[in-house]
Amino acid sequence: MRVAFISHADCGRHDTGWNHPEHVGRLRAVTRALRNYPDLFQTVDHVEGRHASAEELAIAHDPQYITSIEKLADAGGGQLDNDTLVSSGSWDAATAGTGCVLEAVDRSMSGENLRSFCAVRPPGHHALANRGMGFCLFGNVAVAAHYARAKHNAQRILIVDWDVHHGNGTQALVENEPDIHFVSMHQWPWYPGTGAAEDRGPHRSIWNVPMPPALSPSDYTDALERAIDSATSGFVPDLIFISAGFDCLAGDPLGGFTIEIEHIESLTRSLVKRAQSLCGGRLVSSLEGGYAPDRVGAACVAHLAALA
Ligand SMILES: [Zn+2]
Repeated sequence: MRVAFISHADCGRHDTGWNHPEHVGRLRAVTRALRNYPDLFQTVDHVEGRHASAEELAIAHDPQYITSIEKLADAGGGQLDNDTLVSSGSWDAATAGTGCVLEAVDRSMSGENLRSFCAVRPPGHHALANRGMGFCLFGNVAVAAHYARAKHNAQRILIVDWDVHHGNGTQALVENEPDIHFVSMHQWPWYPGTGAAEDRGPHRSIWNVPMPPALSPSDYTDALERAIDSATSGFVPDLIFISAGFDCLAGDPLGGFTIEIEHIESLTRSLVKRAQSLCGGRLVSSLEGGYAPDRVGAACVAHLAALA
């Protein structure tokens, strides 16, 4: 079984400027780190993803919002909020970001590559149906989860989000579908302010795990594993997604968790094991945050090796 490393050259065209934490150097650091591990580099299938179409994005997003992003990019770009901007290349970047995750779903469901890691930007887990926020334009993983159900007849989906920020966009885009279970562990209180443990969504299909900063790494990994146990109790997913935000690592400028690369490795192995026992090994991971580029690169290498 070969794991796919999926990315797209257009993801580099979302130009936020070098003073923005979510800059193109993050993805460059990932490919640079991967080249330093020639054995792993050769073990994975390198796949250029595709662009998601406006119709595919509309599985989860408001068509008017989708058009507005395309028009804003065509007009040269602009600011959506204080943190989130659109550049002239952002439409191509954001549709490529989502498209890579759709490609990963196609490969997972067909068995071509049961597992993939998508090195994409902009990230997606804060994007709402009709509004980009928190560096995110389209909900890459949420769109892909609905796509897997619509296109591949996957009934039940599990999404695990270990980014240090609450995946408020993913929650908003999936919480009305009881057969999508969403687990998000995040720093609390922290941006974007949502994600209380009591917020279980209208169908109690949401598991929010708010955590204070500066605990020991095992406090975080144990809490996340317990929430995944609960989310999979009596619920057998057909496909598992990881929203892999590496701003959960110790030293990230935008987070206060203490997780190290070795814990990313063990969490990944645990999810691979769950995927093998629950859903034929099908697991799709997509990059979310992570703002210390060298750490993101090292974490992606360890994550990819554990997926393989
Ligand atoms: Zn984040």
